Amino acid sequence: MDPKRRALKELLEKFGGSSLSITKETADELAAKGTPAEGLPITTIEDENNVVLGCAFWHQHAFVDDRRALCERCGADICYRPHAAKAKHKVCMNCLPDVVRELEAEEKANEAAASKNADRPLTEK
Ligand SMILES: [Zn+2]
Repeated sequence: MDPKRRALKELLEKFGGSSLSITKETADELAAKGTPAEGLPITTIEDENNVVLGCAFWHQHAFVDDRRALCERCGADICYRPHAAKAKHKVCMNCLPDVVRELEAEEKANEAAASKNADRPLTEK
């Protein structure tokens, strides 16, 4: 297995079933560079969503127009593509699995709380 494929496989295993995807723009750029990331679902970043962007470290940045930022979890020096600027959370690849798991747990808790409220009779005053 080539190193890139192995790295991707390891990343997917780290997530253990969590949803991991890349944007169409990133997929196109990777393909244009000759390193397509196969086997990852494609997603779009909507304005009002909870997308967590996993960012490469700044020293790994590959395009002249890469944007620079700090990981919101650990403060690492990271980069991301301009089209991904509206992603709400930007974290480094080390923090990504934990942040995604935490947000998913939070979402589930919120959903559970919402359905509990909906079941409550409206007689309490
Ligand atoms: Zn980090």
